[in-house]
Amino acid sequence: MAVNRKHAEADFVVIGGGLMGSCLAWGLARQGLRVCVLDEGDIALRASRANFALVWVQGKGLGFPAYTAWTKAAAAAWPRLAAELNADTGIDVYLDQPGGFTLCLSDRELQANVDALKRLHDQPGAVAHPYEVLDHAQTKARLPAIGPEVTGSIYCPLDGHVNSLRLFRALHAAFTARGIDYRADHAVETIEPHGGAFLLKGSWGEVRAPKVVLAAGLGNARLAPMVGLDAPMKSSRGQIIVTEKAAPFLRYPVVTVRQTDEGGVMIGDSEEANGANLVTDHGISSVMADRAVRMFPQLAELNVVRTWAAFRVMTLDGAPVYEQSPAYPGAFMAMAHSGVTLAPQHAYDLAEAMSAGALPGELAVFSTRRFHVSAGA
Ligand SMILES: Cc1cc2nc3c(=O)[nH]c(=O)nc-3n(C[C@H](O)[C@H](O)[C@H](O)COP(=O)(O)OP(=O)(O)OC[C@H]3O[C@@H](n4cnc5c(N)ncnc54)[C@H](O)[C@@H]3O)c2cc1C
Repeated sequence: MAVNRKHAEADFVVIGGGLMGSCLAWGLARQGLRVCVLDEGDIALRASRANFALVWVQGKGLGFPAYTAWTKAAAAAWPRLAAELNADTGIDVYLDQPGGFTLCLSDRELQANVDALKRLHDQPGAVAHPYEVLDHAQTKARLPAIGPEVTGSIYCPLDGHVNSLRLFRALHAAFTARGIDYRADHAVETIEPHGGAFLLKGSWGEVRAPKVVLAAGLGNARLAPMVGLDAPMKSSRGQIIVTEKAAPFLRYPVVTVRQTDEGGVMIGDSEEANGANLVTDHGISSVMADRAVRMFPQLAELNVVRTWAAFRVMTLDGAPVYEQSPAYPGAFMAMAHSGVTLAPQHAYDLAEAMSAGALPGELAVFSTRRFHVSAGA
C-alpha cells in the first residue's frame, strides 16, 4: 500500500540505504536525532551488496594525502564500529585486521607497485603508512600457500577485511535498535528546497524535512542538481568470483584474493572503465582466475559457485566526496568508492559534522570544488 506522509517526523532524511546511507543514518541516530531513510527496492543497483569487503589502507591517497590520513583513521576506528554494532544488534561482522598483501607475479609488477608507494610517500604533504617490500621467500614465510610464480609482495600491517554482507545486515538491524524509520521501495524522484526545508517526492507520496543527505550512490548524479550540487562520477565496473568453501589456508587478505570467515575464497576485483551492463565477462573472469591460481595453486581444485559484476560509486579521482550545498544549506551529499573501509568515518566523523551543520576543514577538502579547480586550471 502506498504511504503518503506529508510531514516527516525526522530531523534528517537520508536518501539511499546502501553502506553510505546506512552508516550516516546510524551515526545520526546515535546522536539522538530522528532519522528517516528513503531507499529504492531490493533489486536496485547497489555496490553495497557486491563489494570485495577489504578494509584497505595500502596505496590510498596518491595525489590526495588527506585521503591517506582519512583512510588510516578509518582503519583505526574500525574495531570501535564493529564493537558498537555488535552491542546494538548482537551481529559479529568478522572484522579481521592482520595486515594485507599485494602479491606480484613478476619483478616488473613488484617494481611498479614499489614505485607507486614511493610516489605516494614522496608527494608534498605526504601522510605515511607503514609497508614492507618482501621477496618470494619472505612472502612464503607468512603466506605458505603461494606458488612459485609469486616474485614478491608488499605488506601493510594496517590492512584487513570484514564480512561486508554481515556489516550491511548489522547496520539495517541497528536501524531498528536506534528507531530509524527505514522505508524500502521509496525511490525519491524529486527534491524541492522550500523555505529552509526540503520536500522529497516519489510515487509513494512526499516527505518534508529540515535536513537531507544524498547518499544514493550512482543515483546522486541525478539528485544533486536538485539541491544546487553536482556529483561527477566515472564509470567503473568490477567483477568478483566466489569459490566453494575450503579449509582455512589464507591467514591474510590479499588485495585480489581473500578467504572469508565462512571459508569461501573471493577473487577480484577487476577494474573496467567502460562496462556497459552487469553481465559478467568470461574473458575478464578467466584472467582473474588464472592470476589467482598462479598466486595460490590450490585454488585450481576449488569449484566456482558465484560470479557477479557491479558498478562502483567512483568519483573522478577515486577519493570520497562530502559536501553541503552552498545554495541550500542543510542539503548534504556523500559518496565514496571505499565505503567498506571508510564506514567508521561516515558513521562517526561525517555524521557528527552533518548534525553540527557544517563540514570542518578536514572534511571540506573532500568537496567537489577540487574538480572545479583542476578543470579551470
Ligand atoms: C566490485 C566492487 C568491489 C568493491 N570492493 C570494496 C572493498 O574491497 N573495500 C571497500 O571499502 N569498498 C569496496 N567497494 C566499494 C563499496 O562497495 C562502496 O563504496 C559502497 O558500497 C557504496 O555505498 P553507497 O551506499 O554509496 O552506494 P550503493 O550501495 O550503490 O547504495 C546506494 C543506495 O541508494 C539507493 N538509491 C539510488 N537512487 C535512489 C533514489 N532516487 N531514491 C532512493 N534511494 C536511491 C540505491 O537503491 C541503493 O540502495 C567495492 C565496490 C564494488 C562494486
